[in-house]
Amino acid sequence: MTEVCLSNVVKDYGKFRAVHGIDLSIQDGEFVVLVGPSGCGKSTTLRMIAGLEDISGGEITIGGRVVNDLPPRERNISMVFQNYALYPHMTVRENLGFSLKIAKADAARIGAAVKEAAEILGLNELMDRKPSELSGGQRQRVAMGRAIVRHPDVFLFDEPLSNLDAKLRTQMRVEIKKLHQRVGNTIIYVTHDQVEAMTLADRIVLMRDGHIVQVGTPLDLFNAPVSTFVATFIGSPPMNLIDGRVTDADTISLAGGPAVPVPVGVRGLVKSGQKIQLGFRADNLMPDGHSVQEGGEMTALDLTVTLTEPLGTETLLFTEVAGTEVQAKMLNPRPVRPGETLKFHLMLDKCHVFDAASSEAIR
Ligand code: ATP
Repeated sequence: MTEVCLSNVVKDYGKFRAVHGIDLSIQDGEFVVLVGPSGCGKSTTLRMIAGLEDISGGEITIGGRVVNDLPPRERNISMVFQNYALYPHMTVRENLGFSLKIAKADAARIGAAVKEAAEILGLNELMDRKPSELSGGQRQRVAMGRAIVRHPDVFLFDEPLSNLDAKLRTQMRVEIKKLHQRVGNTIIYVTHDQVEAMTLADRIVLMRDGHIVQVGTPLDLFNAPVSTFVATFIGSPPMNLIDGRVTDADTISLAGGPAVPVPVGVRGLVKSGQKIQLGFRADNLMPDGHSVQEGGEMTALDLTVTLTEPLGTETLLFTEVAGTEVQAKMLNPRPVRPGETLKFHLMLDKCHVFDAASSEAIR
């Protein structure tokens, strides 16, 4: 079993606390993505697990063994970085086998491990090339191959796709997911890209300012964000938020005037006079005239279009309600002009209500 557990792990750089006593338990075989904005402490956390960074407090265990004081090579982990740092003078075959050679494995074992990695990653045709003769995606696959040959208990990935162009990133994302399905190792993966987190993770760990903000499956975070930070970080486009005030037990008055009923899920949980933010996704706004969901409670909202972005099947509309930007979607719209006001129906049962003072979800 190769569970990875962090208990109250702290990292201080001098007086600056980069990681504030985080607790996290990663199951054997789980694909966990640490995600968050720049500087939130995700790379530091990964580097502490790898042993590349000392921990200032707490405990890290891998497979039940406390590794706080173990050097990286004794942790049975493999790490893939964003700059894949292949040895330029070695062929792909030599790059793949290098770590085993250093570990003084015999030639037969190195040959078998290299062959297996090459097959898993489709590198067979490239084995005699040097890194300079490979594309960015191929180099990244070699970097992953180097990690695989050591049969580590845990793979650590630090923004492995950030140097690739958008198309290649999408392809490599699929390759990494296939690799996990095939090899089944525990993977801890760092990215600032919420799309990578959503598509790859069994569980997402969303961090901010050295704290874990929410842990859950991608859909947990998408459907039940604990705060406005999670609601706007996860999902594309980000969740719309409109300021409002609870005027009585049943009504919210939104900035700019429109009044909407208090969503069913939070009735009885909000107080008259409370300042809130009403959150909803673009998909929860139905253009007037389109079929609406049966039985769901709806409220009308007039949105003034400022900009349109055709995405192919649908068009993203940037609109405004009393100075607040709201993004909506339309399937095959008639031409829409900036300045035009359109009626939409908001699915109230899909709305989230956040306390304006704490930014936390009310539920
Ligand atoms: P990014 O996505 O930009 O890489 P991150 O979430 O991975 O960000 P970390 O690299 O973990 O962030 O850094 C967390 C915080 O610790 C940042 O504020 C950073 O400036 C600080 N930090 C990182 N390394 C050091 C260091 N060696 N000395 C001092 N401060 C550091």
